[in-house]
Amino acid sequence: MIDPKGHLRTILMMAVIAAIVMCCSPICQAKTNAKNAPFTVVIDAGHGGKDVGAKGKKTNEKSINLKVALALGRMIEKKYSKKEVKVVYTRDGDYFVTLQGRCNKANKADGNLFISIHCNSVDEKSPRRNTVNGASVYTLGLSRSKENLEVAKRENSVMMLEPDYTTTYCGFDPNSAESYIVFEMNQNRHLNQSIKFAALAQQQLVSHAGRADKGIRQDIFWVLVHTGMPAVLIELDFICNPTVEKYMMSDKGIDQMSSAIFNAFSEYYRSAKKAAKASSN
Ligand SMILES: [Zn+2]
Repeated sequence: MIDPKGHLRTILMMAVIAAIVMCCSPICQAKTNAKNAPFTVVIDAGHGGKDVGAKGKKTNEKSINLKVALALGRMIEKKYSKKEVKVVYTRDGDYFVTLQGRCNKANKADGNLFISIHCNSVDEKSPRRNTVNGASVYTLGLSRSKENLEVAKRENSVMMLEPDYTTTYCGFDPNSAESYIVFEMNQNRHLNQSIKFAALAQQQLVSHAGRADKGIRQDIFWVLVHTGMPAVLIELDFICNPTVEKYMMSDKGIDQMSSAIFNAFSEYYRSAKKAAKASSN
């Protein structure tokens, strides 16, 4: 049975969604890379400055994200020449960058791959806080679970620290499940490549860094929607778990987690180069 009120609500909602998609879409256009340009990897250390991210007992997310991001960049710059690979950071210190600012920087740099680095956490009242653990790598997608949505809400809610966020983010409300419907209309041209890198990174975080496997997941993160390139968001592990936090803040932990992502990058870069060569022949 059709509920006329419900039907009208759906039509109105679709109109609002279409308006928001049209309003938001021009900001995520990426330019095509010139031939022989280096492969540009954009490394995005999540949070920073007044936005500390998730909190552990001794440290916080923004610090670990930055350490892993910088270590990853250094490894890439050590192995590859500037002609081969260019590293761009969305932040290289402890300062605040908006979610859209991160996307703009990545798009302006004509990035070929966007790697967003984060630490996971559960609610402060959760009884799982001291036991939950494991790495997961997200791509943009719609196979949402309640747990995934909680992660997306937390990572997106940083936009509320900006005074004019409703204008910048076109009315998107990070805490409303309905807002996420908007992106069901957004096509992601880069999904296959994003999944490919996500799989490599996930595998490495498990085999090289010894993290428990929470699998590749999909959800709607602002930085994945608005970067016009293959893009992933890595949740390294759970900073709220004191045992895991100890590992994450140790030199060994930083080295293992960053070299796991580096190994995935090397593999991805190798196959991207091969594919580019094959298509130019
Ligand atoms: Zn985060």
